Amino acid sequence: MNPLYGTLLFFAATIASIVIRAPHANRSKTVKVVRNAKTPLEVGLLVAMGVAVLLLPLLFALTPLLDFADHTFPVWAFGLGIVVVVLWLWSFHRSHADLGTNWSVTLEVREQHTLVTHGIYARIRHPMYTSLFLNAFAQLLLLANWIAGPAMLVVFTVMFATRLQREERLMHDTFGAEYASYAERTKRLIPGIW
Ligand code: SAH
Repeated sequence: MNPLYGTLLFFAATIASIVIRAPHANRSKTVKVVRNAKTPLEVGLLVAMGVAVLLLPLLFALTPLLDFADHTFPVWAFGLGIVVVVLWLWSFHRSHADLGTNWSVTLEVREQHTLVTHGIYARIRHPMYTSLFLNAFAQLLLLANWIAGPAMLVVFTVMFATRLQREERLMHDTFGAEYASYAERTKRLIPGIW
């Protein structure tokens, strides 16, 4: 199959995700941060994520720089890619809508921060990270290139691994027993499994 179809679908979905996030990011900005647990490592990883999810796909699509790592684009990758894109954008939208102004790019606690346990958060504690893994899988399936394709999956796996424990500790410190009981009845990323 022509790899251009996969590339176009990936960029269309990326633009949709930016549109989904924009109003929530703007709303969160109006609420003061009272506690910040971000580290230089995390800032570095956020920059790496920008490179992985945006810069490398753009270099792949618009320049010949990554041509040496191109591979074929099978129809099944496009078909599966469509399914993953739908799940990605749906979970990205739901997690932003449910988290409301408690959302931050980094680890922060805002003024009047509330523990969200409803909606998609009733089943899993990290639906936004689930949606970012789906974003990474969509990229792997839709960009027919050995560098641009897996880039986000590699960077986000490191980001998630270095963040999960710290984020849960921050929530624990902030909400105590309420978070402990919430953590007991929910999974991390995949409903019913983990
Ligand atoms: N890990 C969550 C949230 C990602 S946004 C997810 O994947 O959906 C990161 C911010 O969300 C952190 O700064 C933290 O303060 C906040 N946060 C994480 N879980 C929360 C919850 N259940 N309720 C309220 N805020 C939460």
